[in-house]
Amino acid sequence: MGTINDSILQISYIIASICYIVGLKKLSHPLTAKNGNYIAALGMGLAILTTILFHRTDGHAIGNIPLILLALAIGSFLGTLAAKKVKMTAMPQMVSLFNGMGGACAALISIMEFPRINPDIIAESGMMNGLTLSILLGLVIGSVSFAGSMIAFGKLDGRINDSKISYLKIINIIGIAAIIAMIVFIMFQEEMPSMTIVYILTVLSLLYGISFVMPIGGADMPVVISLLNSFTGVAAACGGFLYNNQAMLTGGILVGSAGTILTILMCKAMNRSLMNVIIGGFGGSAAGSDEGVEKHIKEITLSDAAVLLTYSQKVYIIPGYGLAVAQAQHACHDLEILLEDKGVDVKYAIHPVAGRMPGHMNVLLAEADVPYTKLKEMEEANAEMANTDVVIVIGANDVVNPAAEEDPSSPIYGMPIIKALDAKNIIVIKRSMAKGYAAIDNNLFYHPKNRMLFGDAKNVLQKLIAEIKAM
Ligand code: NDP
Repeated sequence: MGTINDSILQISYIIASICYIVGLKKLSHPLTAKNGNYIAALGMGLAILTTILFHRTDGHAIGNIPLILLALAIGSFLGTLAAKKVKMTAMPQMVSLFNGMGGACAALISIMEFPRINPDIIAESGMMNGLTLSILLGLVIGSVSFAGSMIAFGKLDGRINDSKISYLKIINIIGIAAIIAMIVFIMFQEEMPSMTIVYILTVLSLLYGISFVMPIGGADMPVVISLLNSFTGVAAACGGFLYNNQAMLTGGILVGSAGTILTILMCKAMNRSLMNVIIGGFGGSAAGSDEGVEKHIKEITLSDAAVLLTYSQKVYIIPGYGLAVAQAQHACHDLEILLEDKGVDVKYAIHPVAGRMPGHMNVLLAEADVPYTKLKEMEEANAEMANTDVVIVIGANDVVNPAAEEDPSSPIYGMPIIKALDAKNIIVIKRSMAKGYAAIDNNLFYHPKNRMLFGDAKNVLQKLIAEIKAM
């Protein structure tokens, strides 16, 4: 019965799985990331195509092929359009939206498959079997991921405000207990229960997804999205178990584990525990040991900055979130080229959590064709800081805040930073004295070595370039 078809499917699923693994590996370097994406997409395309062509249920081919193709065409069109149009600063929102769709798919699969659990299996062991468990886990995790991702999207897009309702955490504990109790209840049934209980479980999981993400600070959303991403992976892997589909299983496991690793790495780079992120309340709490002390800032004029940079030997640019907001990456690259032409050695110091998503600065600067060799990781850059004539901090704040090293009461204490203070001169480009993501003051700005160059990063850089050219 369909053995050749089965073999073709199995082989194509193995090829698809290999494509995902190779694709994921290639994503770890900017030079190969684009190809990695294509290879993984190719694997997914192959798995979908062979399933449509060769899958048989009791000897019958898959039905509704025109509808499936139409859905594929609409999805691909919308996905491509969204990916091409999205601004770099809105990337986390898009990832969240797409992730939510994955969770919703996993939940819908479970709702469809629950009433179709093989009656022979139920006759033998009641609802206490692996299939039921895979379906229920896929339903719960997928629904939580969908609802949570939608709230995360709303928060990042500024449509939903942070909720300070303190009892949400207690509601969350009750919610998770109720979900577990319902799963146990269903599993202990001798016969197929009514679908009503499955719908109730779905609604409960959706509500839990909302109340889980609601109390988490809006700025912590990238970490939460990464966590929800790993949930979606696990939900998809449950689907893989259900259908005995290796491509779905491998894909789900890879997404699940990659999401978990990324979540851990982000927490580590911010020197915070996942619990601290989930419980929230990060930032702005430290009184600061020098609270109340009058602080002075020094400003630098464009012409003085131009002279200082032109007569330097070594310059480090430290980019941060403000560079992305100002879309100043091209101006930044132009400045680098101009200074290099004048014999200045220019490099970029990249902090692992600069910006608002992992690799944010790398992607942003790659967009402006800055060569990868110019991007130095934090440790390497820090080792060179003492020999650096000027650091230009562009739209960065927390990632250069010395409080992370000096002030144990600071919420960012312990986070590794780029040691801008070690350089001979510091220029900070930002619009005002406003705080960054952690909502804390930055003593670097008041240091005698530092001079502020106020304004929008793109605007200031363009004027600085004009000034240097005019010299
Ligand atoms: P910050 O958020 O600390 O600071 C950004 C600074 O950019 C602000 O102080 C702002 O000051 C300035 N700015 C904003 N718009 C402009 C503009 N148009 N022109 C010039 N300056 C501008 O950013 P960092 O990159 O230093 O730090 C990232 C923070 O985000 C860290 O605390 C990190 O933990 C956190 N984080 C990072 C994640 C990641 O994966 N990368 C994920 C989650 C959190 P002003 O308004 O005065 O201009």
